[in-house]
Amino acid sequence: MDSSLFIVSTPIGNLKDITLRALEVLKDVDFVVCEDTRVTGFLLNHYEIKKELVSFNAQSETSKIEYVLNRIRGGESCALVSDAGTPAISDPGARLISTAIRNNIPIQAIPGVTAVITALSLSGLPTDSFVYEGFIPQKKGRQKKLQQLVNEERTIILYESTYRIEKLINELNEYMPERIVVIARELTKKFEEVWRGKPSELLIGLKDKVLKGEFVVLISPPDWKE
Ligand code: SAM
Repeated sequence: MDSSLFIVSTPIGNLKDITLRALEVLKDVDFVVCEDTRVTGFLLNHYEIKKELVSFNAQSETSKIEYVLNRIRGGESCALVSDAGTPAISDPGARLISTAIRNNIPIQAIPGVTAVITALSLSGLPTDSFVYEGFIPQKKGRQKKLQQLVNEERTIILYESTYRIEKLINELNEYMPERIVVIARELTKKFEEVWRGKPSELLIGLKDKVLKGEFVVLISPPDWKE
């Protein structure tokens, strides 16, 4: 196996959503860099893969990046995974990848699932042009970001946590009351649900829902009609 950094996408819920190539790479690499060793350990265990796991997160020191890249320079192969979906998409990995590129260390992407594209594909909103904003700021800068998004002409895709989903829909009701909003919850999992409507309609529907789980929120372009 090449001494490269393989950026490997893993499932966002349903463990079957992993490519044959991803499994092959995970079996063949010398070690796996991951966020939470328990989460990745569970996935690898499911596929009967035993591998050295090296933990890595957004706070990891530069020395950890150097440690990983030095091993690849020394001839080892490494798979980078995150807890779910595609590494570096609202997940750690971007700094490791850019440092590898700067140091001429070969990288290869093993593509697969990401919540942003999964949600977009079933949203029914325009897909020809879209903007991914990930998590908007939690406190400072949140109102400014929402104000900026009002002027956005493309489909907007946001990630939001279970703690702030209701707050976000209330804010969309204030800033963009006429837009069609799609909430995609627990994609590929047992309690997957997709809700569509104007923010005010969604707020009525959300009243008797349990707002637990993981959410992608999509916002239609202005003046878009279903
Ligand atoms: N790297 C991941 C990806 O490729 O989608 C994203 C990781 S980010 C830390 C986690 C956020 O992604 C969640 O808070 C949620 O907004 C979104 N997400 C991940 N899995 C999801 C799922 N199964 N259903 C809905 N949203 C999901």
